[in-house]
Amino acid sequence: MSKQAYKFRLYPTRKQAQALTWTLDRCRELYNAALQERRDAYRMAGKSITYYDQANQLPEIKDIREEYNDIHSQVLQDVLRRVKKAFDNFFRRCKNGEEPGYPRFQGKNRYDSFCYPQGGYSLTYDHRVCLSKVGCIKVKLHRQLKGTIKTCTIKREGDAWYVVFACEVEHEPLQENAEAVGIDLGLLHFATLSDGSTIENPRYYRKAEQRLERLQQALSRKKRGSHRRKKAVKQVAKSHRKVSNQRRDFLHKQSRNLVNSYGTIVFEELQPANMSKRPKPKQDEKGTYLPNGAAAKGGLNKSIVDAGWSQFVQFCAYKAANAGRTVVQVNPKYTSQICSGCGTVKKKELSERWHSCDCGTQLDRDHNAAINILRLGRSLQETRS
Ligand SMILES: [Zn+2]
Repeated sequence: MSKQAYKFRLYPTRKQAQALTWTLDRCRELYNAALQERRDAYRMAGKSITYYDQANQLPEIKDIREEYNDIHSQVLQDVLRRVKKAFDNFFRRCKNGEEPGYPRFQGKNRYDSFCYPQGGYSLTYDHRVCLSKVGCIKVKLHRQLKGTIKTCTIKREGDAWYVVFACEVEHEPLQENAEAVGIDLGLLHFATLSDGSTIENPRYYRKAEQRLERLQQALSRKKRGSHRRKKAVKQVAKSHRKVSNQRRDFLHKQSRNLVNSYGTIVFEELQPANMSKRPKPKQDEKGTYLPNGAAAKGGLNKSIVDAGWSQFVQFCAYKAANAGRTVVQVNPKYTSQICSGCGTVKKKELSERWHSCDCGTQLDRDHNAAINILRLGRSLQETRS
């Protein structure tokens, strides 16, 4: 069995949207109150309050605040479980000697979902999600749902509402396949395969990026706190959402293709450190900050690309696991420098797009890297088996 999440857009009526917002607000209120109780107990008495302590208070809360009767009780329990999780993470990091932030109160824009962990929801044949105490909301089921639904989460993203079903799916192994492929993920091509073929970034990426850039510039010209600024923020968020939905769709299709075609897929380990690290701030003798290229390096394109890569590997990995196929990740060191023909290390600048070696090997830089990645993956598999 493996887990899989399905996310669908909801189309609530105005009244239903109000009910969803109202529920979300009550959940956030409960979350913050439960957090406050734990903080107080911990600070004043050094006492820790458990999930059960808090869950046992729910009936009492419902007596005092009758409106909480209008929310499914498991949804409320789930809120308290989130508080518990936040504290568990906090204590775990403390124990590991890290410097964790204390669990935070959730603002209106941060707290964006509530969850039916067991029951209280159903999916009807006429494409509606029926939520206990909310109603039956129209849903767009753009993909076929497989497996058994375990939990149902309602999520707000900007003005849009989504439902996420977490499902348990039985493995559907594909036929055995001895073919292996190495994949170099890059900026120029989305992916270069060890057979020399490439997967290109879809053209709408660039278009969407340009649109986002324009919107962001427009936003930066608006006065803080103004109505126009609020409107611009919404537009930027909407545009972001569109890009990320398109990206997810693209990644699903491409990962499905790869898993269907190859028995083994080899990637480089992605290094979050290089991926999204911003350059250190630079200061002159007087302590004034100097330009450090952060804006260029940390730009929007980059964040889109970064997120795309790790999501892609993740999609391939779970689809492969489901199909009885393998995803291997190898150390990325020197994969673009080593000659795939003779094995000598040949330093290249990032701008050098062609690999040309004295041994006669001539090929595209990324293609060379993909072949090296495949070779590393194979040797890693041999040592494991
Ligand atoms: Zn060579």
